[in-house]
Amino acid sequence: MKIQTVETKNLIVKSNLPASDYVINPYVGCSHRCRYCYASFMKRFTGHTEEWGSFIDVKQCPSWKLPPKIEGKTLLLSSVTDPYQPLEGKHHVTKETLRRMLGTKANVEILTKSHLVTRDMDLFQQFRHLRVGISMNTLNDTFRRDMEPGASSVEKRLNALKQLHYAGLSTYLFVSPVFPGLTNLEQLVAEISPYVQEICFENLNLRGAQKNSILSYIKDTHAPLTSLYHEIYLRRNGEYWREMEDRIQILQEKYPVKMTNYFYHNKIKKGVRP
Ligand code: SF4
Repeated sequence: MKIQTVETKNLIVKSNLPASDYVINPYVGCSHRCRYCYASFMKRFTGHTEEWGSFIDVKQCPSWKLPPKIEGKTLLLSSVTDPYQPLEGKHHVTKETLRRMLGTKANVEILTKSHLVTRDMDLFQQFRHLRVGISMNTLNDTFRRDMEPGASSVEKRLNALKQLHYAGLSTYLFVSPVFPGLTNLEQLVAEISPYVQEICFENLNLRGAQKNSILSYIKDTHAPLTSLYHEIYLRRNGEYWREMEDRIQILQEKYPVKMTNYFYHNKIKKGVRP
């Protein structure tokens, strides 16, 4: 892993994600190496030519302060890196950034695939509006390892979510990305809903190198699903996602937890990302 420190003038950027106004990415790069990672496009903007997952820039911004304009807005850590990837255990960029944000009136959202997030529970409790999300799309640790080799195990993520919940923090589960035929929505909801205030769902979107990688993974390890994946990702048929939306609706009626759907099958049909 190539690690370097980079000075930056600003840590916060405006977001075009549906549920956040601003984002902070304390690192460039991510050691979780998710096979489906959407963030590798960051190489283009940061001058990296190495393979995504083989480098991390540790951002340094000594004089940074949270601008007042974000009062009442939603601020996400993070969108194109994991703020609690293992390197955070040594460099504390996320922790230091949060410390500088204490007293903010923004709605702060943490999103991670790492159990390291529990390290900062005391800090989280000092915020007025903060919630912590764990991203998880399976309870099967073999599939998790295939897809997210550098991220925390299923067991560690579940334990982290429970610890956050029992510490009185507001929590959410981000079921992302939903893998057709592999992500068991009801199993996840049944297991995790007692520990979260909200469950969000986002479907798997594939393009470029990730598309080829996932389609060959499916062919090699889950051959009976090959035709389903071809239907969704080669022929752009959105029917599967419409069925999943109906299933989420049924789950919503059955489980007393808020559910939010970030599927975008119409756009998938047109072959563009939101
Ligand atoms: S955690 Fe997010 S940024 Fe990191 S490799 Fe996985 S998808 Fe990419």
